[in-house]
Amino acid sequence: MKKISEERLKEIIKNLDRKKYRSYNTSSVQICLWTKKAIKQEGVCYKQKFYGVDCKRCLQFTPFIFCQQNCIHCWRPKELLITNIKEIKELKQEEPEEIIENLIEKRKELLMGFKGNKKINEKILEKAMIPVHFAISLVGDPLLYKKLPEMIKLLKEKYKARSIFVVTNCQEPLSLKKLIETGNLPTQLYLSINATNREQFLKINKPLYKDFWKRFVEFLKLAKKANCRKVIRYTLIKNINDKRKNAYELSKLVKLVNPDFIEIKSYMYLGYSTLRLKIENMNTIEEVKNFSSNLLKFLKDFSYEDEDKASRIVLLKNKKSKYENIIEGYINYKY
Ligand code: SF4
Repeated sequence: MKKISEERLKEIIKNLDRKKYRSYNTSSVQICLWTKKAIKQEGVCYKQKFYGVDCKRCLQFTPFIFCQQNCIHCWRPKELLITNIKEIKELKQEEPEEIIENLIEKRKELLMGFKGNKKINEKILEKAMIPVHFAISLVGDPLLYKKLPEMIKLLKEKYKARSIFVVTNCQEPLSLKKLIETGNLPTQLYLSINATNREQFLKINKPLYKDFWKRFVEFLKLAKKANCRKVIRYTLIKNINDKRKNAYELSKLVKLVNPDFIEIKSYMYLGYSTLRLKIENMNTIEEVKNFSSNLLKFLKDFSYEDEDKASRIVLLKNKKSKYENIIEGYINYKY
């Protein structure tokens, strides 16, 4: 298999950095829009609202920028990245500590832009410089990063993480097995689901693996055994995966995992996804609530918990979940 050239890789990373990513080889960080709003005291993200994470002290990053899917609704610059799973798996990956050290520094450099801005409270900015919440969700699938268990352990032990969120496409069951066996699980594991049957999965996620559906189902069954908070996030794309039939099929997938929470979130007409979808594919919060109540008809163990208009999202909760909504690390926490 021909290796991806250094030049090509440099080109990809340069293109990402033009999009306000800051990369350390194949890992990368970006300041989330909501972190900026929180520092300006103009609001917080729905994850702070629902789960208590400190949005201004969020390090949104990826240990490995590549992904084994090319989802039509993805706002990331998929068109700039590699779409050959063999090439992706051959790429060199960096060491966990090097990645964290470098990305924390790069995040500080990006936040320095706020310095001297009279509208910014210096104390808030000072606090924001040191991350306590780690969102491993920027681009790519973190479960393609071979040393993810070591990285999670490091974030907990050395960087005193109050919360670690990992968002995955459910295509790497062996990596999940390693996380479960080592016990180095994130605080909250997000299972990103956008399709409820094999045909739709092919159309919406454009997976690189040929055995994508087998991997998907195997992953969902295994996730049930993961001893951490689990969230299924369903991205609702209007006129594509928002039918009653989808709600029924989704309920079947949910039962394989038995998660603590379900997030039904509208597709957002943002970034590179505007090259692939239309603004008409976004849902109103009312449409998201309709789909959620349809889903609840097939899921008696779940109930409506909360919503966020700005992010067009509804939160459903498993009545049998052992977890509080607010993450333990943020009980009696000073923001
Ligand atoms: S948790 Fe997610 S939405 Fe909230 S600030 Fe971090 S990256 Fe942004």
